[in-house]
Amino acid sequence: MEKTRCLIIGSGPAGYTAGIYTGRADLKPMLYEGEQPGGQLTITTEIENFPGYPEGISGTAMMEDLKRQAQRFGCDVRTGYIVKADFSQRPFHFTDDHGVEIEAETAIIATGASARWLGIDSEKQFYGAGVSACATCDGYFYKNQEVAVVGGGDTACEEANYLSTLCSKVYLVHRRDELRASKAMQHRVLNNPKIEMVWNTVTEEIVGNDLDGVIGADVKNVKTGEITRLDIAGFFVAIGHQPNTAFLNGQLELDEAGYIVVKNPSSATSVEGVFAAGDVCDPHYRQACVAAAKGCVAGIDVERFLHNS
Ligand code: FAD
Ligand code: NAP
Repeated sequence: MEKTRCLIIGSGPAGYTAGIYTGRADLKPMLYEGEQPGGQLTITTEIENFPGYPEGISGTAMMEDLKRQAQRFGCDVRTGYIVKADFSQRPFHFTDDHGVEIEAETAIIATGASARWLGIDSEKQFYGAGVSACATCDGYFYKNQEVAVVGGGDTACEEANYLSTLCSKVYLVHRRDELRASKAMQHRVLNNPKIEMVWNTVTEEIVGNDLDGVIGADVKNVKTGEITRLDIAGFFVAIGHQPNTAFLNGQLELDEAGYIVVKNPSSATSVEGVFAAGDVCDPHYRQACVAAAKGCVAGIDVERFLHNS
């Protein structure tokens, strides 16, 4: 049985920032990297909107920097992932994927959220070469070009609106004839002259080649069966996100969409001594600098909690 004062689960910007703060507080935190060491930013190319990098930085390089910074203050970074958590009493118990048992006085859940995908082969083939699930992150690469967004919820509408400020035209492809998004968001999309609604339509294939990446998408009208080619350079999937909370087995309060509920402005969850930070508890912003800031909040909350308990 290994023991720690603070177990941090996740190695994205939230996890490593929590590692820096708890490390500097001399708590000797233990951090599990999970199956995606460095988190979501390691699957993108250039980060242009994280403060402090005027020339931009690669996602991998930035996450390596954050890891080294956390290690510099004594954060014990472990490979592997947590498969089981038991919050029934303090100290809490965890099990990793190799069967190692960990006893932790506090825990910070920073396991992120994963984009939902359509599940077609061409989506994987052109991922990062025209296919994206983050308009704020990748929209800039399609400046003055035509793009498509798939989805009918608030995220899809928000992505389409954002892209319309950069791109020459945005097709919003939705499988029904009615948007799920809030009325206000619908109003914005339906009155945006740069957005063309493509109703009752699903994606058959994303079309492209090795040189150019995405050059189009074949979409099918589910009412008529007609297949149309949209000539686009970017294909944005916006059909929702799935917070990574399955291993918690229902022990923390989640909202309707599955995000961990925190007692804002703190990072406290429904279980005393368990804190959460980053995309796993953030349905609204899902940006790296917000996740890092929330990791800082969680680190400070842990320090104060241990001091007072
Ligand atoms: P994540 O980065 O998702 O990290 C979660 C971590 O938890 C991972 O390390 C994972 O391995 C770990 N984990 C999960 N389950 C377990 C478990 N059971 N045990 C142990 N570890 C576990 N944001 C920006 O601000 N700018 C950008 O340019 C930008 N570009 C993006 C590009 C892409 C392609 C994507 C997908 C996202 C982008 N984002 C960008 C969003 C940004 O990546 C996220 O907001 C940010 O990474 C969230 O940080 P996080 O620490 O909450 O979680
Ligand atoms: P969502 O509300 O679940 O909407 C997902 C959309 O994707 C739906 O329109 C759905 O179609 C479509 N979809 C799902 N699976 C699909 C598939 N396989 N193929 C094609 N289309 C598919 O998700 P979200 O838009 O990410 O929103 C999640 C939550 O965050 C919501 O509560 C939302 O209000 C909130 N949010 C709020 C804001 C804001 O207020 N600014 C911004 C973003 C998100 P159907 O409609 O046919 O089911």
